[in-house]
Amino acid sequence: MGQHEARNIIAVGLEASVLPALESDHDFSRHWLTSCCASARLRGEIAGGTVGVDWTKKKSARKNRNKSRLWFRALAPVGGIELTSTHSDAWRLTSVPPSMLVVGAGATGAQVASIFNAFGTRVELFEAGPRILATEDEDVAAAAAAAFRKSGMVVRENFGAIESFEKTPTGVRMNFSKDGRRESAEAALVVVAVGWAADTAGLNLAAAGVEVNARKFVRVDEYLRTSAPHIFAAGDVTGRVMLVSQALPDGFVAATNAVEGPTMPVGERVNPAGSFTDPEYAQVGPTEAKARATHDILTAVINFDCTTRNVIDGRKFGFCKLIVDRKTCRILGCHVIGERAVDIAEVAAIAIAAGMRVDELAQIPLAYPTYAAVLVRAAVKAAQELDLKVGWREHEAA
Ligand SMILES: Cc1cc2nc3c(=O)[nH]c(=O)nc-3n(C[C@H](O)[C@H](O)[C@H](O)COP(=O)(O)OP(=O)(O)OC[C@H]3O[C@@H](n4cnc5c(N)ncnc54)[C@H](O)[C@@H]3O)c2cc1C
Repeated sequence: MGQHEARNIIAVGLEASVLPALESDHDFSRHWLTSCCASARLRGEIAGGTVGVDWTKKKSARKNRNKSRLWFRALAPVGGIELTSTHSDAWRLTSVPPSMLVVGAGATGAQVASIFNAFGTRVELFEAGPRILATEDEDVAAAAAAAFRKSGMVVRENFGAIESFEKTPTGVRMNFSKDGRRESAEAALVVVAVGWAADTAGLNLAAAGVEVNARKFVRVDEYLRTSAPHIFAAGDVTGRVMLVSQALPDGFVAATNAVEGPTMPVGERVNPAGSFTDPEYAQVGPTEAKARATHDILTAVINFDCTTRNVIDGRKFGFCKLIVDRKTCRILGCHVIGERAVDIAEVAAIAIAAGMRVDELAQIPLAYPTYAAVLVRAAVKAAQELDLKVGWREHEAA
């Protein structure tokens, strides 16, 4: 096993964020990153401002693929925490547990809960905050909670604070309290999903002058440059937007800046994102509450029980909400719950990225009958409320 000292390097985040850079036209990235990504493993020894790289076979890097440098953030220390499981433990199960408590109803917790609920597990989802899916639009989160409940899941928002976990003959008991009232819930398995923290401790980043934040994510500036100016980081390890779609361009930006110097800022990206729960939900742009805080907005909502394709397929649950700036008439955001929510939000993302006015979107003759066509219905509705001409589409919002 050889060794190499790298001066300009993508520090960590070597899968989704770096492989696409290898496919780019940049010879430098092909050459350099092939070295770093395909066959190297960063050692936990960083000294003198350089990152140690062990040259191992690509095969062994692949083998470690799922050993992500991320952990789930621990709950505040409570008795019996070792009895709980992570989402990774849940995915590794080889049989369906009869019951499960999921603590934390963000994207990951909701996904674990939804999947095991569909498998037939009796699931109770606990959220300390006032609502599940706190980063989603308020109406989407409320609709998701209602749908989860309708499907048999117990959803407890604002449930209080956990006091302890204890072993029972069939699993784990969680003791919690709210306003002085103590309660408990039991299940075969307790999955804790209360947020991510980066597993960077073993890299000894401080030795290279690379700062991390409270959750151990690597601090980066707009060029994805760490506090050590010759070391760059991309993807999840920065804790910015932990999605494949954002890790990909991050890798390109970091690679470019590592080689050419800080020339390419990461910029503001349109960021459509969603989750493949049942029901599926998705967002692009600010939530209605956030948009309202900074803009004079109009929202147009179309329910799925009156859109042709949803009716044909019997997928009538859900809605599409378009958020439009009254002054510029441009589309700011789109929030969807129900069948093909993510695909619909992605079409809206293209309109947002193109800076389209809502009346322009309203006039695009999308194919019929399709799920995404709901966007045009919402655009027509919004355009009409704004007294904008939408021509031949005008009858459709009736
Ligand atoms: C269960 C789950 C479901 C998800 N679903 C989605 C989804 O549906 N859509 C979506 O967009 N995102 C999803 N994500 C998030 C997505 O996987 C990440 O955002 C994305 O993989 C980040 O890419 P990355 O390159 O930063 O990190 P990764 O893809 O995690 O790659 C990091 C790589 O670095 C390697 N590595 C770690 N330490 C070292 C070291 N010391 N030396 C060398 N290599 C090292 C790891 O082995 C790994 O191969 C999901 C994540 C999880 C956990």
